Amino acid sequence: MKERIFLSSPTMHDKEMMYIKEAFDTNWVAPLGKNVDGFEEDMQRYLGEGMYAAALSAGTAAIHLALIIEGIGRDDIVFGSDLTFAATVNPITYIGARPVFIDSERNTWNMDPEALEKAFEKYPQAKAVISANLYGTPARLDELKSICDRHGVPFIEDAAESLGSKFKGEQTGRFGDIGILSFNGNKIITSSGGGMLVSKDEEKVKKARFLSTQAREKARHYEHKEIGFNYRMSNIVAGIGRGQMEYLDEHVRLKREIRKRYEEGLADIKEISFNPFTADSEPNCWLTCITIDRASKVKPLDIMEALEKENIETRPIWKPMHLQPVYKEADFIKVCDIESVSGDIFDTGLCLPSDIKNTPEDMDRITGLIRSLFGR
Ligand SMILES: *Cc1c(COP(=O)(O)O)cnc(C)c1O
Repeated sequence: MKERIFLSSPTMHDKEMMYIKEAFDTNWVAPLGKNVDGFEEDMQRYLGEGMYAAALSAGTAAIHLALIIEGIGRDDIVFGSDLTFAATVNPITYIGARPVFIDSERNTWNMDPEALEKAFEKYPQAKAVISANLYGTPARLDELKSICDRHGVPFIEDAAESLGSKFKGEQTGRFGDIGILSFNGNKIITSSGGGMLVSKDEEKVKKARFLSTQAREKARHYEHKEIGFNYRMSNIVAGIGRGQMEYLDEHVRLKREIRKRYEEGLADIKEISFNPFTADSEPNCWLTCITIDRASKVKPLDIMEALEKENIETRPIWKPMHLQPVYKEADFIKVCDIESVSGDIFDTGLCLPSDIKNTPEDMDRITGLIRSLFGR
């Protein structure tokens, strides 16, 4: 059996170990320390002017804290992306609020601004919006934000998959009242696990640091006026993240090359379309995804099975939230006249292996296997 080709696995370099070793040598293994501060500073610089960042144990923890910091509570309605990883919206449930899912638009696969408008007509009392930049492709972030502003609710930008992507020349993560990032194992950079809450509002970021370290008031004894969490990032984990930051731009460049190779290698197969993005965005191409025309005899599952036989990993598109058993009570808002855009993408799409360690030969092998299914 040939060596496995992964969807997106961690890519480590030399710097990560250097920062970890420094933490060991100075016995700052935990709790906080130089690496946590350094990782936050590196991220603030990367995201650009006026951004603040709090390093946390996971992107999911960052979303949970974002909702709390924005004052969302029990029974509040929160609009969330329908086509996304469940972690985008699960924290709505953690706090006892009620998610309402918003369908995708065709041209980015992300939250449809028109459907969001419609949702506000039905639920004018809604309290927040959380939207993901799927597979690294920015949503129409300016429109989503201005709809939120018009309705006076906070916009939370889930940039877990889109670190390094730009929209209208600016880094994603900058467009929400709060942005969130993830450094989970298969993201564009990884700290083994971890996340950040980012914002232009320094007070919100300070609040995240406070809540993530058990909400200890400044007092000699242990004084608590609020419920806290143990959500802070450890200094070892931050060392990995700090090392990875030095390679983030290289990872983005390699991810874009992978997409380009797929586009070239499959260009003449008209039944295949790639995950689309708008002209004003520069996606990081975290995962290259395709959809296949419904009329095609080749189905996504055929490609997945053919590649799996060759020890090559693929992944279905995220199953939409409105189709998840756990969310069967939640409302879903769409503007299309088919069942849903998100469901259509789920039915016809798949994620292709997008590991930056894939060689040109690996890529030719993958496209060759796909081509042969289409009889080319
Ligand atoms: C990975 C991911 C998260 C969660 O991040 P973790 O660090 O794994 O908790 C949230 N939203 C999206 C869209 C993700 O892909």
